Amino acid sequence: MEKVSIVFSSPDEADIEAVRQVDFTLTRGKTLALVGESGCGKSVTARTILRLLDRNARIGHGRILFQAEGGQPVDIVSLSSDSQAMRAIRGNRISMIFQEPMSSLSPVHTIGDQIDEMIMIHEGIDRKAVRARTVDLLEQVGIPGARQRADAYPFQLSGGLRQRAMIAMALACKPDLLIADEPTTALDVTTQAQILDLLRALQDEYGMAMLFITHDLGVVAEIADEVAVMYLGDVVEQGNVFDVFRAPQHPYTQALMSSIPRMVRRSERKRLTPIEGNVPSPRNRPQGCAFTSRCPHAFAPCAGEYPERTATGAAHWARCHLLTHDEAPSVTGLKQQRKTVENAPANQGERA
Ligand code: SF4
Repeated sequence: MEKVSIVFSSPDEADIEAVRQVDFTLTRGKTLALVGESGCGKSVTARTILRLLDRNARIGHGRILFQAEGGQPVDIVSLSSDSQAMRAIRGNRISMIFQEPMSSLSPVHTIGDQIDEMIMIHEGIDRKAVRARTVDLLEQVGIPGARQRADAYPFQLSGGLRQRAMIAMALACKPDLLIADEPTTALDVTTQAQILDLLRALQDEYGMAMLFITHDLGVVAEIADEVAVMYLGDVVEQGNVFDVFRAPQHPYTQALMSSIPRMVRRSERKRLTPIEGNVPSPRNRPQGCAFTSRCPHAFAPCAGEYPERTATGAAHWARCHLLTHDEAPSVTGLKQQRKTVENAPANQGERA
């Protein structure tokens, strides 16, 4: 993705740029995790890759270059969402799995029939061979009694088995890219661990790239090679997962890390630190850094200047004025200063 923005329009309001300047690369055999709170633009970014945006949304600018194995790069933005070329990519070269399989699987068709159909549409092989491949896929994703379970309806399976069936369907055409949108959020921790293990094993086998969307940094540590942290439609920090976890640079990433429960000795126990406040509405996007109203380290430039990307390592960068301004205060005891900063631009604006 190169500097992609996504704009929502409504008849009664001005256009809203919900996602802006999103810029990342997905590599074969590697996983990029897209992290952030609800409403920060993770899912809409993923759906944009498949051109599955709602009617009131459009790609404002940017490019999404996709190169299937052995093929030429194609700019997905230049394709119409219902074109033949896009249909050949969607579900075939790029697949997606969702948080709640019941919303994606048809309740009135057996899982075997649904996977069969996916294979027939994209591969055009005969019905007998299709069913054999479906049973293979169900076995591969660890569904016991795959031949019999292929005749089950989604409501007859547990949540974990439904998610495995969804993964089998997504992998039916051996995609180059798998997008997983919170695929383990609705599952208990044991099943979650099994599904993450399964995805990793299948990625090794198929060599596909994976875009993994989650709000859970524990899951990121388990599955990702790279992580991009999103806040109000912007990627605010991105890097190798080890670098970001070892030395998070953006105060939002630091705050997310501080809110993860950890196993510690009783004597070391302390309360988790919540991130105060809420993500601002994209309708009232702050002029400078969008995190200003919640940031404990905000200082003078934050509310007025949009922070540019600053490299902090070979493959690690963040958008924060603390990294570039010599006058940036130290990162402790700044809550009082933050209040002053929050009020400053609004007052200036009113005076003007
Ligand atoms: Fe906080 Fe300012 Fe950095 Fe934004 S730019 S994260 S408000 S210090």
